[in-house]
Amino acid sequence: MPEAPEVEAVARALRPLVEGRTIRSARVLHSAGVRPQTSATIARNVRGQRIENVSRRGKYLLLDLASGVLVAHFKFDGQLLFFDDAPPRGTHVDVLLKLDRGTLGFVDQRHLGTMTWHLNADAVPALRKLGVDVMSREFTSAAFAKRIGESKKPIKPLLMEQSRIAGIGNIYSSEILWHAQIDPRRRGDRLAVDDWRRLHNAVVKVIQRAVECCSNPPPNFRDTEWWFTGLDKLLRVYQREGEPCRRCGNAIRRIQQDGRSSYFCVHCQT
Ligand SMILES: [Zn+2]
Repeated sequence: MPEAPEVEAVARALRPLVEGRTIRSARVLHSAGVRPQTSATIARNVRGQRIENVSRRGKYLLLDLASGVLVAHFKFDGQLLFFDDAPPRGTHVDVLLKLDRGTLGFVDQRHLGTMTWHLNADAVPALRKLGVDVMSREFTSAAFAKRIGESKKPIKPLLMEQSRIAGIGNIYSSEILWHAQIDPRRRGDRLAVDDWRRLHNAVVKVIQRAVECCSNPPPNFRDTEWWFTGLDKLLRVYQREGEPCRRCGNAIRRIQQDGRSSYFCVHCQT
């Protein structure tokens, strides 16, 4: 699932293609892509609108329009496509935005991701509930400890709770804890000041590096098969069960936490 770094890389690569362009019309080819809204709602509200800005909040991508905002959530593997003209015959697209130059498409083969229109970002319940953005200036060591430090829950699922810190998902939470040398099962309220400092440094470092990896190569919206490939350079524990820890050589373990896999080293993460 795209986390903040992937969505940030998408926003940066998309900006030069669509910013300042006007949406001539919208066509919804699969209504699952706009649920719970209707095709008519999308078509009516985006027609003739200028795309003022492309931004990101947590794992959400926002197209700020002259009036209102289009909010995209990619879920597991939703993506954006850009065509100079119309999409080639047979291309799966859920929502098509015909611009005054080019066509922007939103697609999720599994029909889990959505693109919906709202009056403004604060009118979107999912966005209103987001905690401090992991890439924002407000994400300080103190803010971090305050949002998580009183919880009795294990630190790994806490890092993924979007209402506390927005933007971290299953992949980067494992990576962050490996860098900070903290066991994913440690309780939030059992972390010491020094742990918070190390953990905050690890979050900033991993997320920054992930944005670089996700941008090299940058998302290619013209390739319907494109997906992020630069992450191999970054990942130290994710999906490396049984393989040697890159720090101490002991085998990486996988456990389930809240139904998601956590990868860590029992020997150097305490
Ligand atoms: Zn280790």
